[in-house]
Amino acid sequence: MHITVFCGSKPGSDPAFVQSAQQLGERLAQRGHHLVYGGAKVGLMGAVANAVLAGGGEVIGAIPKALVSKEVAHDGLTHLHIVDTMHERKAILSGEADAFVALPGGPGTMEELFEVWTWRMLGYHNKPVALFNLNGYYDPLLAMIERMIQQEFAWSDLTASLIVTDNVDDLLDRLEAYPA
Ligand code: AMP
Repeated sequence: MHITVFCGSKPGSDPAFVQSAQQLGERLAQRGHHLVYGGAKVGLMGAVANAVLAGGGEVIGAIPKALVSKEVAHDGLTHLHIVDTMHERKAILSGEADAFVALPGGPGTMEELFEVWTWRMLGYHNKPVALFNLNGYYDPLLAMIERMIQQEFAWSDLTASLIVTDNVDDLLDRLEAYPA
C-alpha cells in the first residue's frame, strides 16, 4: 500500500512522539508499504521518513517550492515532488494514497486530516483514515467530535468512519484489512 502520513513539522515535547513516528516508519518498511508525506526533513515528518528509508522502504515526498527551505526538504527520498502550491502538494498526498494516517501534529496536520476525513464522509473517496492517538494526544479532539454529534452538527457515524488507535501494529493490521 501507499500510506500517506500527516504529522508535525515539529518533534513535540515528549520523546515518545519521535519514537512512535520512527516505529511507524520501521513497520511500514518491514510490511512492504510505501510512505507518502509532505517531504520535510524536520520534526516527526523527518523521523518517519528516515525510519522508512533506514528500513529499505520507499518514500515519496511532495513539498511546495516556498517551503523547501523553511521546512527543510528531505534530499534523500526515493522521489521528491517540488510543486508550486499547497493545493498541488495535497493533490499528490491524497492521489497517491491507499490510506491516510495522522500522527500527532499541529494545525497543518489537523487541516490535512480534516480534509481527507470530510472528503471521505462526503463520498469523494473511500480510503481509510486513521488517527494515531499516542498517549491521548487527540483525546480533546475526539471529545469535540462527540460534542458535534451530541449537538447534532454531525451524523452519529462520524466517529465510526475514523480508525483510532495508539498501537502501530494494530493501526497497520486495520489498514491492511480494509477492503480495497
Ligand atoms: P504542522 O502540523 O503544523 O507542523 O504541519 C505539518 C505539515 O502540514 C507541514 O508540512 C505544513 O506545511 C503542512 N501544512 C500547514 N498548513 C497547511 C495547510 N493549510 N494545508 C496543507 N498543509 C498544511
